[in-house]
Amino acid sequence: GAERTKNVLILMSDTGGGHRASAEAIRDAFRMEFGDEYRIFVKDVWKEYTGWPLNDMERSYKFMVKHVQLWKVAFHSTSPRWIHSVYLAAIAAYYAKEVEAGLMEYKPDIIISVHPLMQHIPLWVLKWQGLQKKVIFVTVITDLNTCHPTWFHPGVNRCYCPSQEVAKRALLDGLEDSQIRVFGLPIRPTFARAVLSKDQLREELEMDPNLPAVLLMGGGEGMGPLIIICGRNKNLASTLQTDEWKIPVKVRGFETQMEKWMGACDCIITKAGPGTIAEALIRGLPIILNDYIPGQEKGNVPYVVDNGAGVFTRSSKETARIVAEWFSTKTDELKIMSENALKLAQPEAVFDIVKDIHDLACQRGPLANIPYMLTSSFTSLI
Ligand code: UDP
Repeated sequence: GAERTKNVLILMSDTGGGHRASAEAIRDAFRMEFGDEYRIFVKDVWKEYTGWPLNDMERSYKFMVKHVQLWKVAFHSTSPRWIHSVYLAAIAAYYAKEVEAGLMEYKPDIIISVHPLMQHIPLWVLKWQGLQKKVIFVTVITDLNTCHPTWFHPGVNRCYCPSQEVAKRALLDGLEDSQIRVFGLPIRPTFARAVLSKDQLREELEMDPNLPAVLLMGGGEGMGPLIIICGRNKNLASTLQTDEWKIPVKVRGFETQMEKWMGACDCIITKAGPGTIAEALIRGLPIILNDYIPGQEKGNVPYVVDNGAGVFTRSSKETARIVAEWFSTKTDELKIMSENALKLAQPEAVFDIVKDIHDLACQRGPLANIPYMLTSSFTSLI
């Protein structure tokens, strides 16, 4: 067709592994569904264009999450709208020009935010530019339950909530029904589309075909206390590798094909990361949650446990006992939990999200070339 390729700018940040995974899932699903109709940019505009504190979020986040009390205070004290709005407005004023340049460089027809701190400032920039009506702005929430209120901004065209719990919070926080869609958490299309048999995977991954297998991991940074897939935590991987084990063990660093490892195992032990949980559900893996980050991950525990897809315990002894029982006397329980996991799973979510965004774009009609202008100072308008 004669239609111009539309630009999609996905705003993310490497605070934890989940936002990047979601951003890449959305990018891949756009390519699979719509090919060349869309050109996708996945960007951390804060890191590339601004200064402190926005460009340093990764480090601050890692530091605070390690010292959980700090994170708890930061999360809850910034929850009231007047506090985070004032704070974000101040930052917006300070970095207005830089953010504006950062966003406009990609001439986006559609902006997708997959980060709790990427609603307010970009939406202000669009307002300053008089582009609110022209550029589609959507939020894809990547927390399953107790998410931070900065995710909710009444100025968005759509707010994609991964669960009814999050949708309820969005309504309470002033979003309209018409803005909210509940499809699930976007997970890489390889999880939804690949047809994988456990036997084949075990052969490919050089695992024993007959022994039951447990997957241990701790999020993208390998932060949890019980880890075999260590993510980016190289020290941990090498320490574990030198340990002596009484059972066959594979210690791996950052893996790019998580769907295979999950498909080859019988249950998973992990911290309560939303991405990891959603992926395990798709693979029908019963989940033992051994920790969570206060605030946004707290609600992931009841999400898993109350839906009968897993259990929560911080004790490694207890964890060992549960796994031993699942693999011996309580295989029924393991099977029921696996079925419950599959019931909760939403492998099509990422496709439903990109199709809905595509529909939004079509409703706008053939997008006229958006008049992007680089202006000097809109700061005084806040
Ligand atoms: N992950 C991965 N390879 C690894 C470890 C983790 O691809 O070696 C992915 C994992 O599959 C998930 C994401 O990193 O998609 C972690 O996101 P989650 O929301 O669970 O936790 P976060 O790291 O954001 O706290």
